[in-house]
Amino acid sequence: MSVAALDINITKISKSRINEVDPANIQFGKVYSDHMLVACYENGAWQQAEIKPYGDLSLSPATTFMHYGQAIFEGIKAYKDPQGNPIIFRPYDNWKRFNRSAERMAMPAVPEELFIDGLRQLIDLDRNWIPTSEDTSLYIRPFMLAVDEFIGVRPAEKFMFIIITSPAGPYYNKPVSIYVHDEYVRAFPGGIGFTKAAGNYGMSMYPTQKVKEMGYDQILWTDGFEHKYVQEIGTMNVFFVLGDKVVTPDIAQDTILEGVTRDSVITLLREKGVTVEERPLSIDEIEAAYKAGQLKEAFGTGTAASIAPIYALTYRDDKMELPPLTEWENANWLKKELADIRYGRKTDTHNWLVRI
Ligand code: PMP
Repeated sequence: MSVAALDINITKISKSRINEVDPANIQFGKVYSDHMLVACYENGAWQQAEIKPYGDLSLSPATTFMHYGQAIFEGIKAYKDPQGNPIIFRPYDNWKRFNRSAERMAMPAVPEELFIDGLRQLIDLDRNWIPTSEDTSLYIRPFMLAVDEFIGVRPAEKFMFIIITSPAGPYYNKPVSIYVHDEYVRAFPGGIGFTKAAGNYGMSMYPTQKVKEMGYDQILWTDGFEHKYVQEIGTMNVFFVLGDKVVTPDIAQDTILEGVTRDSVITLLREKGVTVEERPLSIDEIEAAYKAGQLKEAFGTGTAASIAPIYALTYRDDKMELPPLTEWENANWLKKELADIRYGRKTDTHNWLVRI
């Protein structure tokens, strides 16, 4: 069938589990909303989508993705405006990125109607799950799995597309300390660094665990050849304020995820008249700027954390401490500006908001 009309089969939950959420203490990814969307791809076509109560999946132990990681995902957030209406932030950008990941992982594209209309219908049904206090939101996790019951190594023919949602509070509630890694590598040209493929996250667990044991919050990944050019921190893009310029690694080499927040930050800063450079940025340049008193701000950007200030950056024996957060013009302004747009308190001049 065609999903053009997006006729979704809806089975509603008999009793909402919303009481499981303590609005004063929302922990990221702990509780999932009442409903989920599921659509299957078989015989070369997407079948009718279903919205049904959130619950377990039943899958064969021979299912492809469990063995070979043919799996991708996205992360999006929904907010409520001051009138209590749901708003989804830039889901079209996530839809496009999802399909870039799908192509690289030999998975079928998800049509716009299925992704966007599916999302809207799901959020409409679970709108009570969108928390309203500052720094809270409903985190949306679309994902796709290769589900052939076959352990031979070849691209699968059957897939499941699923969307689940979960109320989210602040991701990092304090500035983070970062270890610059020049041993483990996240991505290399020609690889899958630009995708949200599951394997990118699986491979990051061990190095991240190691740096946490060393007392740091996250890794600043460097490039795979010279181990000098900074890439991303953990699951965020990274920005440095060097003197009066904002510098972020460019995405030309397919090693960096093209963050939606990254694009929003670049757009907002440029509109404000700030010079933003997207270019290769080496740790040597950052160290030199630090020594010259020019390393003013450093922060990560991502859907989960929004703007995550870095208070210290350690490279080998060199610990670079950033000035006090109160002095950071760009990060503080961006955090407020992004929040005002996402919570519908400011006119959406960029067409970033999708309403239900
Ligand atoms: N880099 C990586 C590796 C990520 O997983 C994410 C989170 N999606 C980001 C950057 C930030 O992307 P976005 O702003 O779209 O959330």
